[in-house]
Amino acid sequence: MFRSGFVSVIGRPNVGKSTLINTLLGRKALIVSDKPQTTRNRIQAVYTGDNFQIVFLDTPGIHKPKHLLGDFMLKSALDALKEVDLILFMVEATSSPGPGDKYIAELLHSVDTPKFLVVNKVDLIADAVEDRLLPLYSRLGEFKQVFTISALEEKNVQQLLEAIYTLLPEGPCYYPPGTVIDRPQEFLAAETIREKILLQTREEIPHSVAVEIEKMQLREAKPKKCDRENRPLSQQMSQDGKVPGDVLPPLLVIEAIVYVEKDSQKKIIIGKKGGMLKEIGTEARLELEKIFGNPVFLDLWIKVKKDWRQKEHNLRQFGYE
Ligand code: GDP
Ligand code: MG
Repeated sequence: MFRSGFVSVIGRPNVGKSTLINTLLGRKALIVSDKPQTTRNRIQAVYTGDNFQIVFLDTPGIHKPKHLLGDFMLKSALDALKEVDLILFMVEATSSPGPGDKYIAELLHSVDTPKFLVVNKVDLIADAVEDRLLPLYSRLGEFKQVFTISALEEKNVQQLLEAIYTLLPEGPCYYPPGTVIDRPQEFLAAETIREKILLQTREEIPHSVAVEIEKMQLREAKPKKCDRENRPLSQQMSQDGKVPGDVLPPLLVIEAIVYVEKDSQKKIIIGKKGGMLKEIGTEARLELEKIFGNPVFLDLWIKVKKDWRQKEHNLRQFGYE
């Protein structure tokens, strides 16, 4: 029997939703940072096994929106509660339930989909704290099962996965095996660049950044005409007649624009003598090479688009619609 279904992961910003999905998938499909509101869209991440397929819905953390982008993010998260087979309500063990957790718990009351409570980051606390906190969280709603996990250190994640599997109905393969996320490669590239910016910046900058991919193209590597010793091509050939340049994998050329909201933010991202931008570019390039399996040439431009988070047409331009 083939089992399949949709599983929404919801919770406050920063509790570790994207980290958990990456751990469950056994690969990095989603960006993660220490900044709240890293995830902006509802993204489907697909885990296909021999006899099952689980489609995880990663969601922006549920929080009170302060701008149009926030409205979009909240709506994406709430939409993910509908028509799924299971909801993972994620909280973190480092504090007692707060107003944010209680707000989400209330939203969940009216949803009859089965729910698991997932208490994350237990690696950061002592057992005694866990024993004290668990009843406080469990009381927030009706949960079919409760798990205490560490998404980062992979503690109890396998048990969670087995419990999810057990609950799945018989169903089709929704996505072709091999699918990781339901987004084009440009999205993955833009998110990777945005993640590197989030990891390097603070305060309002992470929230003011949008990344747009202008061009993404494989360029066949040209065989080199001559090498460093200036030998002609014929002398560089190996015995099977291959020229060294022939075996170079094609270069993936990515041109991206990083949008911020103010001139001051542009200056910060560029950094002293361009140092910050260079570092962001290098980190992004290395990760993009791992993701796509080609050498990458990354061209990053910074532009100011005043108050884009408040403007509907800008949100649409950046894919937040
Ligand atoms: P999201 O906003 O809920 O998607 O949270 P992220 O997955 O982006 O993670 C937020 C931060 O929490 C990142 O810095 C993660 O590395 C960290 N984090 C996630 N899971 C764990 C965990 O199990 N233990 C610890 N110590 N940190 C975690
Ligand atoms: Mg996230």
